[in-house]
Parts: sequence; structure tokens; C-alpha cells
Amino acid sequence: MRENMNEKCAVVGIFGHEEASKLAYFSLHALQHRGQEAAGISSADGTKVHTIKDRGLVMKVFNETNLKTLKGNAAIGHTRYSTAGDDSILDAQPVFARYDLGEMAIVHNGNLTNAEEVRNKLIEKGAIFQTFMDTENLIHLIAKSSKEKLLERIIDAVERIEGAFSLVFLSRTKMFAMRDRHGFRPLSLGRLENGGYIVASETCAFDLVGATYIRDVKPGELLIFEENKAPQSIQVFEPTPKHCIFEYVYFARPDSSVFGQSVYETRKNMGKELARIEPVEADLVIPVPDGGVPSAIGYAQESGIPYEMGIMRNHYIGRTFIEPTQEMRDLKVKMKLSPMTDIIKGKRVIVVDDSIVRGTTSKRIIRMLKEAGASEVHMRISSPPTTDPCYYGVDTPDKDKLIASNMSTKEICEFIEADSLAYLDEESLLRSVNSTMDEEKYCTACFTGKYIV
Ligand code: AMP
Repeated sequence: MRENMNEKCAVVGIFGHEEASKLAYFSLHALQHRGQEAAGISSADGTKVHTIKDRGLVMKVFNETNLKTLKGNAAIGHTRYSTAGDDSILDAQPVFARYDLGEMAIVHNGNLTNAEEVRNKLIEKGAIFQTFMDTENLIHLIAKSSKEKLLERIIDAVERIEGAFSLVFLSRTKMFAMRDRHGFRPLSLGRLENGGYIVASETCAFDLVGATYIRDVKPGELLIFEENKAPQSIQVFEPTPKHCIFEYVYFARPDSSVFGQSVYETRKNMGKELARIEPVEADLVIPVPDGGVPSAIGYAQESGIPYEMGIMRNHYIGRTFIEPTQEMRDLKVKMKLSPMTDIIKGKRVIVVDDSIVRGTTSKRIIRMLKEAGASEVHMRISSPPTTDPCYYGVDTPDKDKLIASNMSTKEICEFIEADSLAYLDEESLLRSVNSTMDEEKYCTACFTGKYIV
């Protein structure tokens, strides 16, 4: 069976708005960076749950005509990102089902660590699965639960799953939002202008639809949305926060605030820390766009070395990471990034990127900059070496493909053909992140191999 099926995705839920599906649609546009492979929305009109989902970008999946069929005052949406493979439409979300209590749809961001075990038990008892998604387990657990009410069944179901989950459930009349006890993946609550509510993976969705941020859904908390009522809260699990630090490093959009802090500011702090601990003499600081931009700004500000756009990014090419084969990835890097020759010719440049995963991108970029006439290229990475895969929802390749798990920094530097290479260390990373929420904890397993679940 395939693993890691519910990776870096986005979820959104809208409750109490006449045009709920339209707001969900706009929100998904803001969250598109979290997944480009498939998109979907389910809406509830009190008597039915309607669902549209398909492969492709939000813009491709929805149009004015099909959005109109998603009737009702509540809607949930999803964008999906997963590794390549058989990306059948069945693996798009929301996952929809009819069961004894009526109709239900679920969207999920995260990755369940005991999915296979739960699934095998369900199959032994006669369950039939349509997809490879761990989220489908939840449908079965809810449908088979001996509890009477949906709320009780949701609690029953989430008590049987482990790992990372930010979930939104939709029934014909209610919406529920739930975060795992560690709060691995973000999920925020906001108020719509008309008094309704929104939950979303990132607050950049709130800004787009004119919603106001209220607070984060707490780790282990379940929120219940019912007509004409303020959201009710049940603390299902004792919260033990382990927020995913990679959200700050790479994944979230800079204009979002996740885990209560601005992503942009945090990334800039990382660049400043990096300039302090890994200085180097040079003429220019340039970012690898777009991921490296905020940390390169921080690096330039701290070091006093001028910041320039030395690399242009073609925004019409998708993330290079998505491609399955090495050859395709190489080609896509070339198509995506081009050097600004006049800016970098004859210059000693510091190139700032957020992370090195396989090393393909860095190697290509350095070669490209040298071919364009850079006299020295110093690579600076605003996170520690990525040595271990993520089991909680970020799409990282197996350990053997992670360059930093197989090579020392010196060896990587030689491999990517840089004049120097330096990373941010874990302590400095945590310092960059931890300005306002000292008691909160982060998951840094991708840099340390210390897994909690
Ligand atoms: P690589 O060529 O594998 O070393 O790719 C590194 C680049 O991919 C960096 O520029 C990162 O911004 C980006 N990146 C890091 N993690 C991910 C991820 N999980 N999904 C997509 N891109 C990523």
C-alpha cells in the first residue's frame, strides 16, 4: 500500500454564509500553494451534501456553473498535494459518504501514523475501501461507531487514530473542526463579515474573504458549528503541542500567521540568525525565489550586504518537487528559474534558500549562476540539514534520497559545486521562531530524527 497519502494539503470550512461554497472556493485559491494536485468542495444545504472534486488546480476544477450547484450555508474545501503515483480522482477530497445518520464529507490535512493498522482491522471486519487515503478510515470509524450522535461518533473515531490531523467534517446541518493533540498542522478560526465562521489551514484565506482571525483551533480541540449558535468547544485530548516547524521554514505562505506568529517575520528572523552565525564576504545577497525571499531579506538586513533579485522565477511552472523522475526534476528547475546576468556577472553572491532536500535545485542554481558569470557562489540555507523524512504530513522523500542524511555539509558543498555552504542550526532556528510563544513546542523531526508519535 502507498504511504503518505494525505500530505501537505489545505483545508477550509465555512459556516453560516449564503454563499458558503463561493467563499470556500476563494479560500482555496489562497491556499493553492499547499497542494496543486486536486481540489474539491462539499456544501450542505440542510437536506443534502453536494460534492465536486477533481484533479488539477482550483481554477480548473471549479467554474461559475458548477459552483452554483454547491448550495447551502456551509461548505468545506480541500487542495491536495501528494507524491506522484496513481493520483486517481478517488484520492481527491472531500471524502463523501452516505451512512446510517445521513450524509457526511471530510477534509484532512496531515498524515495518520496508524492508518494501515486501523485499515487492516476494518477490512478484517468486512469494510471495503475505495481509495488509498487514510482519511477514508475516518468515514468507516464514524459509520461503524456504536454511539448514537454524530458528535459522539467523531470523538469515538478520532480517539482511534494517531498522527497528524487537522480535520473539518460536514454533515447536512453541522460542521466540526478538529486538530490532533500535538497540533502538528495549523488550523485557525475566524469570523466572517456577516457573522458566520471560517476555519482554514492558513490565515491568508481569511484576508482574501474579509474574515477576522479569532484564534487557532487548539491542539486536541473539537469545535462544533451549529446554526444560530456560537461555536462550542470540546477539549477531546490533553494538548501537547508539537507544531511543525517546516510550516515556518517552507510550507506556509509568508502573509499567513500560523501557530500564532507571522510566517514572514519568522522567516526574516531565520535569515538574520543565519547572517549572524554564518557570515561570508560577498557583494550581493540573492534569494532562491519564492521560498528564499524573506530569509534573504533578513540576511541582507543583518549583514548589510545589498539584496538583489539575481534569479527570476517563471510562475507558470509548478513546483519542481512534484515531478516523479530525476530527469524531469532537472529540466523543470531550468524552466522555472533563470539568472539575471547583468546583476550577477563578476559578483560574489550569497544565495539564500529555505532548504535542501535532494540537492537537485541547489546544484542547478549554482551552475546557472556560475555560467552567468558569478565569481563566487555561497549557499546559505535558512534551516538545518533535512536528514529525516516526515511522517506527519510534509511530503519528503525517503531517507536515502535526502542528501543530508547521506553526506556531510562539506560533501554536499562539493556536490552542489558551491564555494561555501552553511545551514542554520536547530537552536538558532528555534530562536527565530520562538519570540512570542515560549511555552509552545515544535516538531523538528525532519532535522533531528526525533519523532514523537
Ligand atoms: P531539492 O532539489 O530536492 O533539494 O529541492 C529543494 C527545494 O525544494 C528548495 O528550494 C525548497 O524550497 C523546496 N522544497 C523543500 N521542501 C519541499 C517540499 N516538501 N515540497 C516541495 N518543495 C520543497
